[in-house]
Amino acid sequence: MSTSTFEQQLLWRASRWRSLSEAHPNSIAPASTIRSLGIYSGFRGVWVDKQHTASTAVPSGITIGVRHDGSSYADRLSDTGLIYKFPETERKGHDELEIEATRTAMRLGLPIFVVSGHKDAPTREVRLAYVEACNDEAKEFLLAFVPQPILGPMRLALASPESAPEWLARRIASQTNERRFAFKVMERYGPRCAVCEISARPLLASAHLRPKFANGTDEPENGLVLCANHHLALDFGLWRVHPNEGRVTARSGVDLTSIGVTRRNLSLLRAYPSDESLEWLWKLNFKHVQSAMRPRPATRAQDLITAVPPDR
Ligand SMILES: [Zn+2]
Repeated sequence: MSTSTFEQQLLWRASRWRSLSEAHPNSIAPASTIRSLGIYSGFRGVWVDKQHTASTAVPSGITIGVRHDGSSYADRLSDTGLIYKFPETERKGHDELEIEATRTAMRLGLPIFVVSGHKDAPTREVRLAYVEACNDEAKEFLLAFVPQPILGPMRLALASPESAPEWLARRIASQTNERRFAFKVMERYGPRCAVCEISARPLLASAHLRPKFANGTDEPENGLVLCANHHLALDFGLWRVHPNEGRVTARSGVDLTSIGVTRRNLSLLRAYPSDESLEWLWKLNFKHVQSAMRPRPATRAQDLITAVPPDR
């Protein structure tokens, strides 16, 4: 692909975003408008428009839009970003091309459109996003929402084949992305529950060991991949981890077998969580993690309204 094609793509995407935002300031538009702007079309999750984006250098084309239907736990939409699963349909060849086309949007630093809403609903919400990172093992992309295109150098830079270009990565990483924690935790530990054999992606979550409301960080060392059951059981204090030995320990009166814990030592994981986080949890003993929540001094009425237990 030539630099001019890259420029054309960037300008075309920026102009489509401007047209949409001008006509629909809340970015909620009829499906027919979205189609006629060329932002998204077809029935597959990823819209590439090969006719206009493919070239000899980029045979797969470059993803223009993706549809988000919130079908899995990890897919949940936040205001700042999204974890987007690789397409997995019966048409493997198409899936691979679409993954490659999305990876190309990441490498080139081209924005894509995220279209959400039920396929039968008359309107859709459209957001502009950059593909921040890609995890082949967990088969997912990390998308970061932006209010408008980020203008970088108007030239083609394919320095690093597996990540967004440097100038863009710096800009996006400085933005909040609530899904980044989940993505990084999955990268660190791999897509399997830390204490059982469950690896079905829709059942896995990235859990904070020390919750945000108790001053826990969003560093991946403060997280663990857990299935929905073991996430809940951790919150309820049914099990803890001995900080030094990594041994999984059940609350007195509970036995590990009865709660389905089959992997009983975290030191067998490919990465180990932070000692500080494990110690915090150990000191909490077998109390419910919510018991560590302290109401923050609310200075405004709005703070009171938003003082709900955060997502963990
Ligand atoms: Zn589990």
